[in-house]
Amino acid sequence: TVRTRIAPSPTGDPHVGTAYIALFNLCFARQHGGQFILRIEDTDRQRSTAESEQMILDSLRWLGLDWDEGPDVGGPHGPYRQSERGDIYAEYARQLIETGHAFRCYRTSEELDELRETRKAQGLHLALKPEDLALPEAELRRREAEGWPHVVRMKVPAEGTCVVNDMLRGDIEVDWAQVDAQILLKSDGMPTYHLANVVDDHLMGITHVLRGEEWINSAPKHKLLYEYFGWDMPVLCHMPLLRNPDKSKLSKRKNPTSINYYRRMGFLPQAVTNYLGRMGWSMPDDREKFTLDEMMAHFDIQRVSLGGPVFDLQKLTWLNGVYIREDLDDAALLAALREWAFNERYVGQILPQVRPRIETLSDVAPLAGHFFAGVPPLDEQSFADIKLERETLLKLLQFLVWRLEGVTRWEKESLLAEIKSLSGAFDLKMKAFLAPVFVAITGSATSTSVMDAMAILGSDMTRARLRHAIA
Ligand code: ATP
Ligand code: GLU
Repeated sequence: TVRTRIAPSPTGDPHVGTAYIALFNLCFARQHGGQFILRIEDTDRQRSTAESEQMILDSLRWLGLDWDEGPDVGGPHGPYRQSERGDIYAEYARQLIETGHAFRCYRTSEELDELRETRKAQGLHLALKPEDLALPEAELRRREAEGWPHVVRMKVPAEGTCVVNDMLRGDIEVDWAQVDAQILLKSDGMPTYHLANVVDDHLMGITHVLRGEEWINSAPKHKLLYEYFGWDMPVLCHMPLLRNPDKSKLSKRKNPTSINYYRRMGFLPQAVTNYLGRMGWSMPDDREKFTLDEMMAHFDIQRVSLGGPVFDLQKLTWLNGVYIREDLDDAALLAALREWAFNERYVGQILPQVRPRIETLSDVAPLAGHFFAGVPPLDEQSFADIKLERETLLKLLQFLVWRLEGVTRWEKESLLAEIKSLSGAFDLKMKAFLAPVFVAITGSATSTSVMDAMAILGSDMTRARLRHAIA
């Protein structure tokens, strides 16, 4: 039976790209009466967080993209979190060493840099091959005996071409000369993506891998690993990446990419899922509005077009409006509003912000309106009271946007740290620095705490408002 999976790394906000790939995997599995699995690829212990994992699960579930097996629902092939499968990968790495397909590499990072430098100077390809990495026998023995830190690398052919078949793209050819002796186990014993991904896809019985085209370059290494293990390789299908309207790869620098943003903004999950289904794919009759069930019923992977699908906020907004008008009666609209923001969880976050500042309950709506809004309407006049040159003000907001892009833990403390350091760089007191930020975020000069507002609104909504103030 057909088994597909989505394998997100919990290293940040839940990405619309993840939902898009999940949707196509789900439809492909359902259309064949198969199963759809969710696996968390959290082998990068530095960058993975439990909060990110939770947000990914919440977002996919919100969109209605349910999985049959996963870390939260269990299943016969668990654990479904790679950080809990360390022993499995170590065992398979050991097997590869024993069969001569992998080797322990004791090279230091200085030596690796040096090797790359010399190769560069000699005009050679930069991939490091087993023979480049080899140490003189005595030196190898010494490092082994002294217990130096080491990694496990896979052997790769020195030359020739690797041909990988892709369901949509046909045969893809890659020169082995360009492929590194890929690290499989890091010095801390954790597997890299490549080893863990191949081992898990096999053990979890995955038959079809639908993933973003950014992974095409990994396919030759994966193919080789399947051969080394003597396993059948799943059928591969590399989906076109989502694009900004200017055709560049959809990125948070230009567009909101977090599902949290679309949720906060008040999009309906069925509209977002429908819109994602239009990314490089269409219904046989080309209609724009369809349900997930309809998409599953009519799904055909061959109708995916490889020209980069544009994720266009305006089109999504239009479609969302159609859903609200056509599909929601008063009761459903009320329910949607409740589920969106008029609920205990969200209003509960706002109460501490408004309580010290109100005298009657009717003060709440004007004061807290920005918590329920998209981007506030602003013009130059909005910043009239701020004692900064226009140029400095724009620069300040722009620098802040850039700084915030790098914040991985979106909470008040880390935001405060960024703003402190940036206000120092601008030689401004915190209060003066925050004044224009205040207007950009809350839309007015007097409101609730701007730091708390940013923390509550989330990364993408905050940056969208700052970007809007600059535009
Ligand atoms: P950004 O450029 O916005 O920082 P990113 O590539 O750094 O994006 P990641 O956090 O690396 O984003 O990606 C998270 C997930 O989203 C990955 O699974 C990745 O495959 C997917 N993804 C990222 N960008 C796209 C895209 N343009 N289209 C489809 N999927 C994407
Ligand atoms: N963990 C990878 C990601 O973040 C999975 C890629 C794959 O599907 O093989 O997208």
